[in-house]
Amino acid sequence: MRIAVVGCTHAGTAAVREILSAAPATQVDVYERRTDISFLSCGIALYLEGLVPKLESMFYADAAGLEALGPNVTVHLHHDVLAIDAAAHRLDVQDMTTRHIYTRTYDKLIMTTGSYPVVPPIQGISQPRVFMCKNADDATAIKAAAKTAKTIAIVGGGYIGVELTEAFSHTGHEVLLINGVHALLSHYIDPVMATQVAQELAAHGVVTRLTETALKFDTDAHHVYITTDVAERVADIAIVCVGFQPMTELLDDQVAMNADHSIHVNDYMQTSDPDIFAAGDAVAVHFNPTGTDAYTPLATNAVRQGKLAGLNVLGKRVKYMGTQATSALRLYDKTLACTGLTETRAQKAGLPVAAVTFTDNYRPEFMPTTTPIMGRLVYRTDTRQIVGAQLFSQYDITQSANLLSVMIQNKNTIDDLAYVDMLFNPHYDKPWNYLNLLGQAAVTQADQRA
Ligand SMILES: Cc1cc2nc3c(=O)[nH]c(=O)nc-3n(C[C@H](O)[C@H](O)[C@H](O)COP(=O)(O)OP(=O)(O)OC[C@H]3O[C@@H](n4cnc5c(N)ncnc54)[C@H](O)[C@@H]3O)c2cc1C
Repeated sequence: MRIAVVGCTHAGTAAVREILSAAPATQVDVYERRTDISFLSCGIALYLEGLVPKLESMFYADAAGLEALGPNVTVHLHHDVLAIDAAAHRLDVQDMTTRHIYTRTYDKLIMTTGSYPVVPPIQGISQPRVFMCKNADDATAIKAAAKTAKTIAIVGGGYIGVELTEAFSHTGHEVLLINGVHALLSHYIDPVMATQVAQELAAHGVVTRLTETALKFDTDAHHVYITTDVAERVADIAIVCVGFQPMTELLDDQVAMNADHSIHVNDYMQTSDPDIFAAGDAVAVHFNPTGTDAYTPLATNAVRQGKLAGLNVLGKRVKYMGTQATSALRLYDKTLACTGLTETRAQKAGLPVAAVTFTDNYRPEFMPTTTPIMGRLVYRTDTRQIVGAQLFSQYDITQSANLLSVMIQNKNTIDDLAYVDMLFNPHYDKPWNYLNLLGQAAVTQADQRA
C-alpha cells in the first residue's frame, strides 16, 4: 500500500510514526513545504522570553529520523502539494527548490495540512513591523525585531496573545495588549476569571486596552501606528494573534467540509472519501461537552488524531474519544488551566447551565505556606453534568484540570465531584480536596435553585 502524508508537523509526524511502527514496510511519501518537521509552536513564547535559548530545541523529529523507521519512507522536504485529485488518487507536487512539478499517485492519503493564522481585515496588516505568530520563521522574525524594539503591541487577547504578552513583559519591553470586543481569553474562561488575568498582567506593567479594536496599521522606519476605534496607539512592533483557520483548500469540493472550512471526519479520522484520512488543525472533532463537532486547534488533539489516522489508515478501527480542549497557561507565578465550556459559551450553545466560583487555600493554614485556588465549575442544570471548569492558582493545578477533563468526558456530575474519593495529606490538600469542595459548592448552588 502506498500512503501519502501531506503536511508534517504534529499530526503528520504522529501518523507516519504510527504507520511505520505497525507496518514498517509500508510505502510512505511525506510532503512538507517547510525544510523542517515537528516544530512545537507552543515553545515560541519560551524562546521569545529567553527561557529556551535555541529555537532548534523545539523540534522533536527530523526527516532522517522518520526515514529510518522503514525501508520505503521518503520525506520530501520543501515540497508543496499544489493539487489533489481525490477521484484519481493523484497529487501534483512542486519541488520548491528546483520548481519542478510532478504527479504522484497514492492508495491512501493522510491530510495533515494544519492551519494558518487568521488575518483580520485590518488595513496595513502586511506591512513590516507587523507580525503573525505560527511557525519557526515567525518566531525568528519576531525575536530579531524585538531585539531593537522598546514597545511591543499585541493585538488579540486569546491564548497566544496573552502568552506572548506575558513573555515580553519579562524581557524589559513595554507591552500593550489590545483586545477587541471580548474579555481576555473569552474562549477559555468566564469574565470573573478574565478579571484575574487582567489584574495579573497590569501588576506586571502590561497596559491592556480592552474593548478596543485595531482598524489600521501604518509604519515608518521605527514605529507602527495602530489606529483603533478609540485612539491612535504607537509601538515599535505589533504581533497579531487572533486565532487560526483550517488549511484545507486542496480538498475543496472533494470531501465533506464543515461550515468553518475544517474537514469533517468520522470517529476514525476518516473523511467522506474512505481513502482519505485527516487529522490535526485541518479538521473539526467531536467536542464532548456539547456533543457536536468543534474546531479545536491544539497540539494535544493533533498528536492524538495523527496517531489514530496512522492506525486506522492501515485498517484498524480505533475510535477518537473526542476532546474537552483542555489547556493551561502560565501567568507569572500562577497557572490558569481550563477544560470544556465556559458558562458564556455553554449558553451560546443553548445548554441549560449554571456556574459556581469557589476559592479556598489548597492545604491547611497550619502548614508553613499555603495559597488559594480559584475554581469555577460549569454544569448543566437539567442533568447536573459537569461541562466545563477553570482553575487559577500559584499552586500547580494542571493535573486537576486533566482530572476534570476526564470527568467531563465520562459525563460525571457535580455530585460525583463533590464526593469522589480523593487523597488527604496536609502537604497537598485538606481533608476535603479542593476539587471536592468545588463540587460541593456547585451541589449547594444547584440544590438551592431546585
Ligand atoms: C504560538 C503557538 C502556541 C501554541 N501553544 C500550544 C499549546 O501550548 N498547547 C497546544 O496543545 N497547542 C498549542 N498550539 C497549537 C498547536 O501548535 C497546533 O494545534 C498544532 O501545530 C497543529 O498541528 P498540525 O500538525 O495539525 O498542523 P500545523 O502545525 O499547522 O502543521 C501543518 C503542516 O502542514 C504543512 N503543509 C500545509 N499545506 C501543505 C501543502 N500543500 N504541501 C506541503 N505541506 C503543507 C505546513 O507547512 C505545516 O508544517 C500553539 C500554536 C501556536 C501558533
